[in-house]
Amino acid sequence: LDEARGENRVVMLDLSRADLAFDKLTLMRELPRAISNGEMFLAYQPKVHVRRQEIASAEALIRWQHPTRGLILPGDFISVAEQAGEIGALTMWTLEQVIADQKRLAQDGHDFPIFINISGVLLADSVFVAEACDLIRRGGARIGFEITETAVIRDPDVAIRHLQQFADIGVELAIDDYGAGLSSLAYLKQLPARELKIDKMFVLQLTSSNRDPLIVRSTIDLAHALEMEVTAEGVETPSALALLSVMGCDMVQGFLISRPLAIEAFRHFLVEENPLLSPGGAQHSFIR
Ligand code: C2E
Ligand code: MG
Ligand code: MG
Ligand code: MG
Repeated sequence: LDEARGENRVVMLDLSRADLAFDKLTLMRELPRAISNGEMFLAYQPKVHVRRQEIASAEALIRWQHPTRGLILPGDFISVAEQAGEIGALTMWTLEQVIADQKRLAQDGHDFPIFINISGVLLADSVFVAEACDLIRRGGARIGFEITETAVIRDPDVAIRHLQQFADIGVELAIDDYGAGLSSLAYLKQLPARELKIDKMFVLQLTSSNRDPLIVRSTIDLAHALEMEVTAEGVETPSALALLSVMGCDMVQGFLISRPLAIEAFRHFLVEENPLLSPGGAQHSFIR
């Protein structure tokens, strides 16, 4: 009986693993059509400048509205897109949307750059780099890229050269998820980035942990010494915001200020809900 039970358990595990693999293969197959079918959309999340009390920029985060499975988050399909060789197409689609949305927002008085996340594989892809540069140069929008250091480590010379090409045409660069992956000070020194984003793993428990505040404070000081601005991601509570403000963190991003919002809701946030821009906004500071 024990043996049989053991066997059953093994079979169940195998099945769930097979399910997962099947899921990935199905997503891989569905991905190209999903892009052309309009199943992808972008959610925008603001980054707020703490001292200036205004929106510094926004980040575009991709979502897949699947006709039968519902909403799929990037954590479940970006790696699939990379493996399927679709990440270039997906990123070009994102870039086109962001260029159009940034220009429209700017026309309405909300003129800040919008950042998109760039996979490491694309930093080695000179075809992508050439096409993206072309699109950005013709687009006339304020664009930024968020990249992780892990993305640079595969082939640092090529990646840094490509990033410099983007920087040369006015693309702002931010280092994403700092501290979460392989954080090499050598790359920090070489990358033409002016913004460093501290990973939310150090921010979510900022006021309840002993070590996180030390790590965050020293990272802020390091970034400032390198003449970079610092963004904390994952700011969910007023107490975290207050502490970050005291530590001299330049920008904050997180559910406390806004969740990532589809363009219409984001527009609404900019006009109606932004505590900084609403009438009496100066008094209604969220830094207490
Ligand atoms: P990321 O760039 O580090 O984005 C931050 C993630 O944290 C987002 O998850 C966002 O929704 C979430 N977040 C924001 N504020 C808070 C908060 O206060 N608390 C908590 N707990 N979470 C918060 P999302 O949208 O699921 O994206 C996950 C990752 O997927 C991103 O991490 C990014 O690496 C990747 N990604 C998203 N869009 C794209 C894209 O267009 N291209 C590529 N290559 N990657 C993308
Ligand atoms: Mg990001
Ligand atoms: Mg991040
Ligand atoms: Mg992250």
